[in-house]
Amino acid sequence: STLQEWRPFNKTRVYMSDLESALHYSLRVELSGHISISGDDLIALKKYINVLAKYFPGRPSVKSALNTVDSWLQQQKGLEIKYSDFRDVLDNTVQTSDAVLPEGVQWVGCQGSQAHFRGYPCTVWTLFHVLTVQAKEMSSPDPQEVLQAMRSYVSSFFGCRPCATHFESMAQESMDHVTSLSTAVLWLWSRHNRVNNRLAGELSEDPHFPKIQWPSPELCPSCHGLKKTGEHSWNQEEVLTFLRNYFSSAHILTDYLQ
Ligand code: FAD
Repeated sequence: STLQEWRPFNKTRVYMSDLESALHYSLRVELSGHISISGDDLIALKKYINVLAKYFPGRPSVKSALNTVDSWLQQQKGLEIKYSDFRDVLDNTVQTSDAVLPEGVQWVGCQGSQAHFRGYPCTVWTLFHVLTVQAKEMSSPDPQEVLQAMRSYVSSFFGCRPCATHFESMAQESMDHVTSLSTAVLWLWSRHNRVNNRLAGELSEDPHFPKIQWPSPELCPSCHGLKKTGEHSWNQEEVLTFLRNYFSSAHILTDYLQ
């Protein structure tokens, strides 16, 4: 059935249920389309899982599951792995200890007004923003680590192929210029706004969640300013402060977790 119970939520918050749903969907649905994984795809998968193991701000059981999968993957020295072996580690090795990667999806902040709106792509953006902010909080030594992991994940596995092509062209254009953890957070924010700009008014837009240049003046008044010419300008210092709070681990809501 496409009818799902609506879960009331706060539109201005991030939900752990969405982040865990993103993990489930990427690891058990998107990846399962690849019977064996090799070459650039295997490198992409290793980087993605490694970044999740380091920076996913989850429950101890979920972090423990990601660590188990990460260690297993780092030990795989062959040219390819079978998805079924990867899946076995996810579903068996992992679930026997105190480590668990919850099964199934439960969108909360990423619910759409109809089943074909929002959901997974919304949780992917949310997850990526959370990871860039978490890398900043944890003073990761490599400012591009999270962005490059996302870039290769999207390129190898993201099911929406036009999205992957667009994202890769933005990455090629300017991702290499990111030289600090703060600019990594801001890079992702500004590219996401470019995508919002491109998609505003399209049929794919959920009418209840219009694509805007985010955050709105209501959500972050101090983020917005005017140039002398009267044109809108972003106050990037304020945007960075806002993002570091909005996507911080302490600010994530745990309602509706399985
Ligand atoms: P989303 O854009 O998914 O955003 C999720 C939430 O993030 C929003 O509700 C808001 O709370 C917050 N947010 C919004 N803007 C920002 C921002 N600038 N910075 C930080 N947080 C923000 N769809 C296409 O049709 N064509 C494409 O080319 C395309 N490319 C994509 C590329 C990537 C990498 C991803 C992950 C998705 C892409 N999509 C594309 C899907 C599209 O961007 C949306 O995810 C989808 O339409 C659902 O939109 P949404 O309303 O849930 O908001």
